[in-house]
Amino acid sequence: PSTSASTPASRPDAAQAAGVGVATRDIHLAFGANRVLRGVDLDVEAATTACVIGPSGSGKSTLLRVVNRLLEPDQGDVLLDGRSVLADDPDALRQRVGMVFQHFNLFPHKTVRQNVTLGLVHLKGLSKDEAAERAHHHLDRVGLAHKADVRPGNLSGGQQQRVAIARALAMEPEVMLFDEATSALDPELVKGVLATMADLAAEGMTMLVVTHEMGFARSVAQQVLFMDGGQVLESGEPDRLFEAPRTERLQRFLSQVL
Ligand code: ADP
Ligand code: MG
Repeated sequence: PSTSASTPASRPDAAQAAGVGVATRDIHLAFGANRVLRGVDLDVEAATTACVIGPSGSGKSTLLRVVNRLLEPDQGDVLLDGRSVLADDPDALRQRVGMVFQHFNLFPHKTVRQNVTLGLVHLKGLSKDEAAERAHHHLDRVGLAHKADVRPGNLSGGQQQRVAIARALAMEPEVMLFDEATSALDPELVKGVLATMADLAAEGMTMLVVTHEMGFARSVAQQVLFMDGGQVLESGEPDRLFEAPRTERLQRFLSQVL
């Protein structure tokens, strides 16, 4: 069912760009009087996955938006590959950092293929043929090359989210951010999306993942960060964090979600 002729020699990214480390230093951000981020430090080493857990309203989404430059912090720094990026052009930075949202944000009137090729043509300057070929490769990677000609509304929520992942990957990011990517899905569709994310982690992508899926955090992440009140209260290896939480607030949170 493929519509693009993909030859090995011209395959766009047979070797995926190696992930790079991402870090924040003392990030502060307030919405008016609401101090949403209050000194957030994190370090995600290249080719590792860090999961961010924590109660609703603790600042997880805001933190990801700062890392992706959708929001400017009042104070602090974001580093990619050890280098501050806050002085860089936000659009350029956003091409290095892919993001997947809870609600897939696909264009409903475009086909699956067009959803993936749009950014490649308009932001990356690829020709239509190059973009179609690259889209095919990434849709194939998430198991949806055969759905390239349908509109998102004809797909399950899990398939739509995998299209959103393919769209982000087609931009060849160095880091991937996921903000509750499975929270809007029916339970039976969650597994397939988590499996796609686990594959990506295994292939060496650097990933910062906000999730309520504690099983995923435990089995895929090298590091888990617990946020509450705009701060990282506790972080560490998943086994340690889940089995021996040091703060009362993490103990309480885990007793509610596990
Ligand atoms: P989480 O993702 O952990 O649930 P958020 O980062 O979405 O938390 O929100 C943290 C706090 O910031 C909440 O009190 C929320 O109401 C507030 N907030 C988030 N985005 C905005 C915004 N664009 N304008 C004003 N307040 C916001
Ligand atoms: Mg959120």
